[in-house]
Amino acid sequence: MTYQEAITRYLQRNGYTSLCLKAVLFDMDGILFNSMPYHAEAWHTAMAQHGLHLSREEAYLHEGRTGTDTIGIVYQRQYGKQPSPEEIKTIYADKCTAFGNYPDPEPVNGISELLEEIKECGLLRMVVTGSGQPSLIDRLTHSFPGMFQRDQMVTAFDVKQGKPNPEPYLTALKKAHLQPDQAIVVENAPMGVQAGAAAGLFTIAVNTGPIDGQLLIDAGADLLFASMPEFAKKWNALYREMTHQA
Ligand code: CA
Repeated sequence: MTYQEAITRYLQRNGYTSLCLKAVLFDMDGILFNSMPYHAEAWHTAMAQHGLHLSREEAYLHEGRTGTDTIGIVYQRQYGKQPSPEEIKTIYADKCTAFGNYPDPEPVNGISELLEEIKECGLLRMVVTGSGQPSLIDRLTHSFPGMFQRDQMVTAFDVKQGKPNPEPYLTALKKAHLQPDQAIVVENAPMGVQAGAAAGLFTIAVNTGPIDGQLLIDAGADLLFASMPEFAKKWNALYREMTHQA
């Protein structure tokens, strides 16, 4: 599918006449920071400590879910019943401990180049994440100087319902006083893609992990890129198509 076809399909599906791009909404884990290998490993380890089986690859498919939901799904599958609140708390604490043992994740390869291109286009950059790490803003400022503003961010503290619910993306639009046809989403996980599409936003999936790209298309991605460097390389061509759509 060409960029033009993807844009036309999106516009028709949502009943818009054109994209009037003003902002790009970025997911964080797996898009800005290469944190997913650590999350997957930490989930695998913590589950194993409690006799539960969650492969590293499956952990990627649960990306974006709350910890409680992920634990509930795996526990139910294995034991045929729901975990107690105490068990959830213990397993989640062990996951956080395991994650905390890893070094700070590095920016995703190619993301800094992409952000520069997007900034040059005069577009607002926003972060929309289910994460609630207190050190988040400091890390964003340190790793991506001049790219993100504190008041243009949606984190776990801003929403009641996380992805795949559209609330995080709808909250971002509200914060920036934008309509859905004025922003696009960049996501790496099926549930994040679902959230962007459900909010009525043109949603670009970048497959930075080990999952099958088809899962991202099935989740509702308007476009799929196989890696961040590929997306960064093609950004200008895509941006031209988006701005020439009348
Ligand atoms: Ca993600």
